[in-house]
Amino acid sequence: MDKEYLHEEEMLSRDELEALQLKRLKETIAQAKKGLFYWDRLEDIEPEDIKSLDDIKKLPFTTKDDLRKNYPVGLLTEPVAKMVRLHVSSGTTGAPTAVLYTQKDLDTWADLMARCMYMVGIRSWDIFQNLSGYGLFTGGLGIHYGAERLGCLTIPAGAGNSKRQIKLMKDFRVTAIHIIPSYALHLATVFDEMGIDPKSLNLKIALIGAEPHTEEVRKRIEEIYNVKAYNSYGLSEMNGPGVAFECKEQNGMHIWEDAYLVEVIDPDTLEPVPDGEFGELVLTTLKREGMPLIRYRTRDITRILPGECPCKRVHKRIDRIKGRSDDMFILKGVNIYPMQVEKVLMSIPEVGQNYLIVLEREGHIDQMRVKVEIKDEFFVEDMRVLKALQDKIQKRLRQEILITPKVELVEHRSLPKSEGKAIRVIDKRQE
Ligand code: ADP
Ligand code: ZN
Repeated sequence: MDKEYLHEEEMLSRDELEALQLKRLKETIAQAKKGLFYWDRLEDIEPEDIKSLDDIKKLPFTTKDDLRKNYPVGLLTEPVAKMVRLHVSSGTTGAPTAVLYTQKDLDTWADLMARCMYMVGIRSWDIFQNLSGYGLFTGGLGIHYGAERLGCLTIPAGAGNSKRQIKLMKDFRVTAIHIIPSYALHLATVFDEMGIDPKSLNLKIALIGAEPHTEEVRKRIEEIYNVKAYNSYGLSEMNGPGVAFECKEQNGMHIWEDAYLVEVIDPDTLEPVPDGEFGELVLTTLKREGMPLIRYRTRDITRILPGECPCKRVHKRIDRIKGRSDDMFILKGVNIYPMQVEKVLMSIPEVGQNYLIVLEREGHIDQMRVKVEIKDEFFVEDMRVLKALQDKIQKRLRQEILITPKVELVEHRSLPKSEGKAIRVIDKRQE
């Protein structure tokens, strides 16, 4: 069983991999043209026109808006009767989009997921608990089928009900978990409340992803749970999780290029940016049957990390996702990503496990208020101590984002907590 998940495709040389990509790109175009959407879009292009991978530039982009306009089944390239599964994106940035899968698509997906988990050391004898929402969200069943394919005892715990989560982990001696990073931080406070030290459990590995998070948050999770935490990236439009994943080196996520063709573009000019430079990630499916997508603009901002990975896999690595292009906000003429704020906050030991950025308007001036949870032991009566902490946070934030935000210290566990992806910014400027 184990050997099966060191895929041949994972061990190809660069040349072999690119030859495979070219073959699959042609197949993808042929498959895409079976459906109405690309039949129209790719009217002038035939698979034979693609002579090299560079010819991808001849193809048009596909956007989230295309998916919305063609909701629910306008992008299918096989009859609905051949589809066996439906997922819907979380709808973080607007109307959700639907993705349908054939049995073959589900098999490909489970294989990719199993490959990711195997890469970080999960084996059939591991006990795996999935703490992400099931149902329409791909982080539930997507991860689940990967773990089962690997042969793990797989616990579909779902999101929320934190006390039960902890009991399951304890009773079944769970060794590996999948959890959204903001929930992992929140769960730590529940462990605290119950008087259980997460380090006393059997956990070894945590897969964290589905939302942007910083290296500082990873370190916190590793420290609190005494695990190795690996970044997991995916999106419903590309199956779900299993698109890119960190190897044991933890230095960027290998993107599975036998299944996805990768480009990074400047979102304004739509031209490719050189490796090492940040831009928008654009992906083309290479193994999708029911709903192939060509040059899909993910709106996620990242970069290709140049150089080889010591693990020897030739699949390119992408950097931690900085955020979506729509996450960035402009305040007093400065572009700011919420992750810049998180990076600062999570490096300060007194800061607890949650924070919230509120953008508001005072008169004609835009302001940023950062509400920061403070750990119980630091939330003291002495106003001078708190004021000094507040000043320290403010100063550090200023160094990072170049403007001075208002900082409000709040008690541990007092900020709203969602069980799914965290909401980090509330923009009240237009109200
Ligand atoms: P929605 O786009 O509505 O949130 P999905 O559930 O399909 O729906 O989420 C996919 C998105 O989640 C990605 O496009 C990306 O913005 C974010 N995401 C997923 N994994 C990660 C990760 N490891 N790091 C940062 N962002 C991530
Ligand atoms: Zn590697």
